[in-house]
Amino acid sequence: MNKTGAQEKPLIANQREEEKSPGQRLHEANLKVTRPRLLVLSLLHEIKGHYSADEVVKMLQVRQTPLPRASVYNALGALLNRGLVMSADVGPGRVLYEEGLVWHHHFVCMDCGTVVDISCVKGEKPCLLPEWVPGTVEEAQIIFRGHCGSCLSKATESKAG
Ligand SMILES: [Zn+2]
Ligand SMILES: [Zn+2]
Repeated sequence: MNKTGAQEKPLIANQREEEKSPGQRLHEANLKVTRPRLLVLSLLHEIKGHYSADEVVKMLQVRQTPLPRASVYNALGALLNRGLVMSADVGPGRVLYEEGLVWHHHFVCMDCGTVVDISCVKGEKPCLLPEWVPGTVEEAQIIFRGHCGSCLSKATESKAG
């Protein structure tokens, strides 16, 4: 992630989050340390990337640390609430979760569904405010939709062939 002078203040604390243990991060976020929260946070930390809640359920099973679906959803909800986990609404009806370290946005390929992190110019929430909202805004999640490089080159190839 590139750093500009404007991003300095809030990001320094965030970058060190990576080095903390999941238990420590729960503790600092004032969340009770429970087994589901620890398992879900550790998993997202280790695997990186973006996953649906059902994929998290499956991966925990594969790792021999299975959790009921409801516990995974509850844990994700609590972690999301405190910013330890970020969600991306990549739609339609598809929500993906990832470890919440540095606030960023997403690019979603309309052809293959690939999700790519896009750094936020401002680096803090909310980075965008409309002229009017009916209350307060905590964050602005931006999804850039389009066609990824590999889908674009496939399309050119098939045209050429
Ligand atoms: Zn694509
Ligand atoms: Zn992301």
